[in-house]
Amino acid sequence: MPAGEAVDVFDGVERQVPEGLAEHLRTVPLIDHHVHGNFVAAVDRATFEASINEGSTDPVPPWMSQFDSPLGLSIRRWCAPLLGLDALAEADAYWARRSELSADELAELMLPAAGVSRWIVDTGFKGDLITTHQRLAELSGGTSSEIVRLERTAEDLLEDGTAPEDFPAAFRSALAAAARSPGVVGTKTIVAYRTGFDIDWSRPSDTDVVAHARELAARPRPLRVDSAVLIAFAVHEAAAHGLPIQVHVGFGDRDLDLHRCDPMLLLPLLRTMPPVPVLLLHCYPFQRQSGYLAQAFDHVNFDVGLAINYLGTRSTGLVAEALETAPFAKQLYSSDAFGPPELHVLGSVLWRRAMGLTLGEWVRAGDCTETDAIRIVDMIGRGNAQRVYAL
Ligand SMILES: [Zn+2]
Repeated sequence: MPAGEAVDVFDGVERQVPEGLAEHLRTVPLIDHHVHGNFVAAVDRATFEASINEGSTDPVPPWMSQFDSPLGLSIRRWCAPLLGLDALAEADAYWARRSELSADELAELMLPAAGVSRWIVDTGFKGDLITTHQRLAELSGGTSSEIVRLERTAEDLLEDGTAPEDFPAAFRSALAAAARSPGVVGTKTIVAYRTGFDIDWSRPSDTDVVAHARELAARPRPLRVDSAVLIAFAVHEAAAHGLPIQVHVGFGDRDLDLHRCDPMLLLPLLRTMPPVPVLLLHCYPFQRQSGYLAQAFDHVNFDVGLAINYLGTRSTGLVAEALETAPFAKQLYSSDAFGPPELHVLGSVLWRRAMGLTLGEWVRAGDCTETDAIRIVDMIGRGNAQRVYAL
C-alpha cells in the first residue's frame, strides 16, 4: 500500500504566517521533552478510541465516538493523508485503512512525520504495552533519552526486597546510578496522582522515611507509594543529586484530584528546594499559573503538551496563552503522546501550526521581527530542552 504524504502544516492559513517563519516551522527538528512509547501491537477500535480520551477510564459508550472530538477531527485532518486518505476522511474509512497496517508499519508512517530529533521518554507507565525509548527512536529515525520515575523507583526497591531500614540509602544509590547513566537525563514525580500538591513539602528525616517505607512494604503487591513523606523524600533526594525533576501538573485521567494539582500549591517546595530544573508538565488548565511560576523562579520551566493534542484546532489559543507571562527561555515543547503514533505526530503538527499562527500575528502586527519569532521557536522547540537537560 502506498504511504501517504504529510499535508503542509499551514494548509488553509498560508497567508497568515510570514514565509520565512513558516518555512522554519515546517522543518525545525524538535526535542519532545515529555513523551511515552507507541503501541507495540495492533489495537482494536474500542482500545484506540479509549486511548484518545485522557480523562475517562471507562470504555467509550456505544452512543458516541471519540472521533467526534477536537482530537478526533485533528486525527482525521492530519493523519488520514499519512495513510494515503483524503484529509478529513470519515472515521470508519480511517479505521478501515488503519486496520490494514501493523503497529510497526503505522509507527514508521507516522513517527518520522513528527520531525522530532530527540524523544525524552517517561518509561514508568504500562511499560509492556508500549515501545521502549530505544525502539521509539529506531521507528522514528531520531534519538532518545530516559526519564526515571521517582515513585516507581521507590516501589521497585521495596518490591525487590530492600529492607525498610536500608531504604533511604538504597534510594540514594539508585539516584546516584541514574545521575551517572548517560541515557538518563532527569526524573519525574506523579505526586499529582498520589497525594495532590497540598502536602508538607519539608525534607523528612531518614527515621520518618524508614517508618513510612516499613508501612508500605507490609502491604500486598504491587506496591503503590501514596505517602507524602516518601514522595517529599524522593523529590528532595532527586534535587540533592542535581537531577532535573518533571512534575505532572493538571490534565490527566480522573484518578487525580484536579483541584489539588494547581501548581501554585507547589510554592512551599519551589521556595525551599535546591534550584535544580523543575519541569511543570502539560499544566492545562493551569497554564497561566505555570507561566507565572516560570517567570517567578529561575529553576521552573513548563510545557503545554498533552492538551495541545486534546484541544485540536483550539490549541492555537492554548499556545498563545502559554506565551503570555513566562520568558521564552522557560517553556519547552512536548507531545506527551502515549500509545497511538497519531499522538506523537499531532503534537508536533499542531504546535508548529499554533506557533506559526500566534507568532505570525505578532510579526504582522509589528510586535516582533520575523527573526525574533524564529528565535522563540528555536528556544521552545529545542534550545531550552538542551540547556535544562544538559543534552
Ligand atoms: Zn504526562
